[in-house]
Amino acid sequence: ERARLDRLRHMPSVTLDGQAVELLANIELPGDAAAALAAGAVGVGLFRSEFLFMNRNGELPNEDEQFEAYRSAVEGMHGMPVTIRTVDIGADKPLDRLTVHELRHEHALNPALGLRAIRWSLSEPAMFRQQIRAILRASAYGKVRMLIPMVAHLAEARHTQEAVARAKQQLTEAGVPFNDIEVGAMVEIPAAAVSLPQLLRYFDFVSVGTNDLIQYTLAIDRADESVAHLYDPWHPAVLRLIADVIATANAAGKHVSVCGEMAGDVAFAELLLAMGLRSYSMHPAQLSSIKQRILRADSTRLAVALRATLASDDPAAEWRRVLGGTTII
Ligand code: PEP
Ligand code: MG
Repeated sequence: ERARLDRLRHMPSVTLDGQAVELLANIELPGDAAAALAAGAVGVGLFRSEFLFMNRNGELPNEDEQFEAYRSAVEGMHGMPVTIRTVDIGADKPLDRLTVHELRHEHALNPALGLRAIRWSLSEPAMFRQQIRAILRASAYGKVRMLIPMVAHLAEARHTQEAVARAKQQLTEAGVPFNDIEVGAMVEIPAAAVSLPQLLRYFDFVSVGTNDLIQYTLAIDRADESVAHLYDPWHPAVLRLIADVIATANAAGKHVSVCGEMAGDVAFAELLLAMGLRSYSMHPAQLSSIKQRILRADSTRLAVALRATLASDDPAAEWRRVLGGTTII
């Protein structure tokens, strides 16, 4: 069994009909790169940098500390790409109470709709540029991409670009080396999904955060147990948004990945493939089971059955019927 898993780890993930699929890892700390490598990931699709900022007892990591953490992740991946998400703090990922900047949104009535993620970064321009500089500096040591969480508005895209330009100028003036990096947007707010054609003009790639996309589409708090039964990834509206995002990005020739929980859930492996997804990012522990599904899938056959599933009022049942008719066990 061990030998079989070892073989699987080194096997490229290609469907029965020859479609190459990229399987990436989600990590929270630089040390997780080892688990990503061990699982056979070909890169990091989501480095949740906010974990460096949490439980700090009032003191946030400065530029050098961040740079060391990002460089460590990059070197740990041995030349494979690492996608670093700028801080996604607020709501379900709060800063600790002692951290001064938390005080400003501590009492928000709806923190999930409040000052969080890119909104928080843009409201703290000096800290945002510090993080961007740290990410740019790490790009001198490997392949680095920068991912912006919770983009909802085109103005956020423009302000991010200005911040990146400013950070690059500061590094250049200081003679600090960096490489050009791709900048992508998380699609996890329905507005971003719906306005994707415009958004794609500003970003090099997108990554779909299904955890928040489901939360905001269905108006279901992802952390509230009392409505957990209504948190439904199979809701036709959710599936429609994800399918549209993948199709729109593919048509525009922009790299699209899914980095929410759905990417690592075997129940959705073939469905996402049928939607045209060729890049999944997930917890390292889920990688081998997703790879096994990909290796046994026929993407052409699956794609033909997609339309009926998206139109169905019970997509889960309809898709199970489709899978029942294929070789998938
Ligand atoms: C998501 O929302 O799907 C996502 C990947 O980001 P996080 O779970 O960190 O909010
Ligand atoms: Mg999210």
